[in-house]
Amino acid sequence: MSEERRLIAPRDEVASMEAYFSPQLDVSVRLNTNEAPEPPPAGFVAELLGEINEVALNRYPDRVAVELRRAIGALHGVDVSQVYAANGSNEVIQSLLLAYGGPGRTAVVFEPTYALHSHIPRITGTKVFAGERDKEYLVSADEVDRVLGEVARTDPAAPAVVFLCSPNNPTGRVESLDIVQHVLELAPGLVIVDEAYGQFALRSAIELTSAHRNLVVVRTFSKTWSLAALRLGYAIADPEVVDALFSVSLPYHLDALKQAAGRIALGYVDDMHDRVRRLVDERERLLDSLGSRLVEVVPSQANFILFRVPGQSAHDVWDTLVAHSVIVRDLSTYADLEGFLRVTVGTPAENDAFLAALDAVLAGS
Ligand code: PMP
Repeated sequence: MSEERRLIAPRDEVASMEAYFSPQLDVSVRLNTNEAPEPPPAGFVAELLGEINEVALNRYPDRVAVELRRAIGALHGVDVSQVYAANGSNEVIQSLLLAYGGPGRTAVVFEPTYALHSHIPRITGTKVFAGERDKEYLVSADEVDRVLGEVARTDPAAPAVVFLCSPNNPTGRVESLDIVQHVLELAPGLVIVDEAYGQFALRSAIELTSAHRNLVVVRTFSKTWSLAALRLGYAIADPEVVDALFSVSLPYHLDALKQAAGRIALGYVDDMHDRVRRLVDERERLLDSLGSRLVEVVPSQANFILFRVPGQSAHDVWDTLVAHSVIVRDLSTYADLEGFLRVTVGTPAENDAFLAALDAVLAGS
């Protein structure tokens, strides 16, 4: 009998890593992954079905997705050369780190923030330096100065990348344009502002792109466009950055149907705004309802709310909610988020189900 063969281990950074995922449980109310609760408009689906007949499935798709990128550019008033699109904004971030991160380079994040902003740099062999948010979960100018100063001490060209997330996942806070501008002026490398929840907020950094070549704003079709299953995200950036992102993309990385679907979705801007308005109304109702139940909340400009039930562990709250067929996200293991959970704003009926389940938590049942 031959000896059992030992498999080669993955790279050290990868071997010590756990896959990133949120639990997908079979419950009736899923409020744990910040998806849109409503499907896209029926007209969009009908147009997409029609498009399937038009696509030459035997041919490779447009390598640079020019029509889709042109439509995204038109939405934001920028040129097609400033738009890069990929399979979800996570893949956009991965491309950014493949191009600008890597061994010997550093990325800065301000915790608590979106876990993938550290996870993706680590996968690409990029060092991560974590700064902290203040008590209001905002990034302060003092902390930016401290972190950038500290990172530059060993390498004046570092960090290659600074992440801001606005609205920030999981806190829902929006950074002021002043702080974004402060980072842009001080950072020697790229500043990535992740606006996955940008349409829910009153401010966007996109208006700063014309004045700052080192700014990259990342957005997604997963939330406000109700297309999380489609996997489509994009960056607005300097054309030189867009070229670098294409250099690290796989050939034909965006399939033809996805390119068509993204382009068709952009014909439904008014529906998207209506959906956002409904979710913002529901968010405000949830914030009031949680406050009146004396649950601690963090003010949010996104489609989710960070909350904490006084006197109860996040784990117990999560368990009781699941027992009532409602799933939220337990974030209590994140830095500075002890006891906190995050609920995604759902339909009015889903939010009512969440509040009813929370009443059971508060009643201890
Ligand atoms: N950025 C942030 C801040 C997010 O919360 C998410 C989704 N959880 C993403 C990016 C990734 O979105 P997608 O890959 O679906 O575009």
